[in-house]
Amino acid sequence: MTYKPVIGLEIHAELSTKTKMFCDSLNDPNEKHPNINVCPICMGHPGTLPVINKEAVRKVVVAGLALNCKIAENTFFERKNYFYPDLPKGYQISQYQKPLCYEGYLELITKKKIRITRIHLEEDAGRLYHLPDKDYSLVDYNRAGVPLMELVTEPDFENGQEVREFSQELQLIWKYLGVSDANMEKGQMRVEVNISLTNPDGSWGTKVEVKNINSVKFASDAVNYEIKRQIELLEAGERVKHETRGWDETKKVTFSQRSKEEAHDYRYFPEPDLPPIRIANGRASTTPVGGPPLFFIDDIRDQLFELPQQRRDRFKKQYNLPDNDIDLFTVNKSLGDYFEHVASELLSFDKLGHLKRPDAGHQDKLFKLASNYLITELRRMCEEVSAESADTKITPEMFADLVVRVFHGEISSSGAQIVLKEMFSTGKNPGEIIREKDLEQISSVDELSIAVKMAVADNPKVVEEIRGGNDAPIKFLIGMVMKNTKGKANPQVVEEMLKEILKS
Ligand code: ADP
Ligand code: MG
Repeated sequence: MTYKPVIGLEIHAELSTKTKMFCDSLNDPNEKHPNINVCPICMGHPGTLPVINKEAVRKVVVAGLALNCKIAENTFFERKNYFYPDLPKGYQISQYQKPLCYEGYLELITKKKIRITRIHLEEDAGRLYHLPDKDYSLVDYNRAGVPLMELVTEPDFENGQEVREFSQELQLIWKYLGVSDANMEKGQMRVEVNISLTNPDGSWGTKVEVKNINSVKFASDAVNYEIKRQIELLEAGERVKHETRGWDETKKVTFSQRSKEEAHDYRYFPEPDLPPIRIANGRASTTPVGGPPLFFIDDIRDQLFELPQQRRDRFKKQYNLPDNDIDLFTVNKSLGDYFEHVASELLSFDKLGHLKRPDAGHQDKLFKLASNYLITELRRMCEEVSAESADTKITPEMFADLVVRVFHGEISSSGAQIVLKEMFSTGKNPGEIIREKDLEQISSVDELSIAVKMAVADNPKVVEEIRGGNDAPIKFLIGMVMKNTKGKANPQVVEEMLKEILKS
């Protein structure tokens, strides 16, 4: 029997605003001291009144527009009532009936569309610390009242890989837009997966929810594990229980946390202390009916920056780099930005006519060279000292200068590595370093001719072998020339010269 997995996600992300959702306490995820960023409003003292953080609303609308959502023109907050020590007010201000964003989608690489049901805005709860050998728990309210968005998808996923790809892309989009830092280890982004298998008649089976997942990889592992577990249950003639399970990252298994047989009653009702939210179509220059709205949708749309997928497409078109390089420059945005600075320097070198022997496709070759040195050499050096490429002593102009010298054969690739290291630590120009260290490559046939002739004269046996039809030992002769020129000969030129001599 084949079972088709049906999987949907619920993703929470803390918004990176300066202050909390309904008060001016700081929203600082890095605050180490507990209960510092609190005030009577987020502590739920009687008689206090919440005020909507406009920036948080704007960020959710930005997230929604980037995910092809419709934006609710008229919406409001609601109270979700429940009793738990992490919730000082006894209710969470959330959205229920009318989320800010709805009916969006995100496309996977395979072009499959994952439908987004809704994105709504709410406030986060405090953080509880359960101490292993104590009969009490501690609570930190720094997080209570931090703006939180919840995104819910339709159950459109079929496996862990899709869940992983979607979550990673979402994370990247939110980082690009400055909506959320979306760091899963820090709990800024929390993924819950709902998994069921279809019944033999095609209808959906009982779903299991898996929580406490703190990396994208674990989300995909939990999905794959749960699919296997449920298939085994059904094959054994048992039924899948409707429950919430946790993910044990050491044992790589899900485990039962609580049964969900009875539904919670949160007694939702509209929040009486906050005004409704009105967002108007069009721009601020248009006159809306019914008084000034909080935002105009098109004003926000105008501020959307380039999204990761748009960047990938543009990099392909503009620089024709391999997909792996492009992906790295998309995920590591600052390295990609640095690459673009180098590329624009290379183009201006070219425009000024400073490139020798420009052939068809020479620009692509230059871009690829630059990309190689950035991804292998510069990235490694930066990682060693945990710096961003833009903060190093190597300016994009200097980097481009080096790339052109490699392209011109003025310096060998091993020489270029030495120059890069020196540029990185001293900030000197490549030209200066090449002169100082005497690294200039010899590419002139005239200058190399004696060394090449010597290598041929000194190794008659090898020469005989090559002339007899075995090309391999030519490497040995090149090596001899390199040795005699202290590594400065251009190996490609030497190879050409040797072939020419040995032909006759
Ligand atoms: P609940 O009322 O239990 O919270 P919702 O309808 O709000 O359920 O859906 C929550 C999440 O579960 C959504 O991401 C949705 O796509 C997913 N989901 C709904 N039904 C199923 C199912 N049968 N199998 C897997 N996921 C499902
Ligand atoms: Mg639900």
